Amino acid sequence: MKCAQCGSENKTGQIYCQICGAELDLTYDQVHESVREELKLEKEKYAEDQTRQFLVLAVFLMILSIILSVVAGPVPQAEAPPSFSAPTTVQKPEPPAADERFYFPERVE
Ligand SMILES: [Zn+2]
Repeated sequence: MKCAQCGSENKTGQIYCQICGAELDLTYDQVHESVREELKLEKEKYAEDQTRQFLVLAVFLMILSIILSVVAGPVPQAEAPPSFSAPTTVQKPEPPAADERFYFPERVE
């Protein structure tokens, strides 16, 4: 809040001017307005800080991704997907060789 005598800015809640020592004759409305202004400034500063932090983080992530892409090299290309068409020539499985011992174990000595 401003001193009426010298015009210097004083902290909220001060009774006397810090520069000239004059009594800061303030009404409730003036104090209220002063507090509101200070809160508004604080909010703006907070929002600015948040924005700055976000930008710093975004730039950091961008630089990190560039570094990683340089270190890791190009992204490997995916192989062609397997085809699901049936093979042109179907190999018939060979029938198992007939073995008498297998089918008639009691006949062979
Ligand atoms: Zn003053």
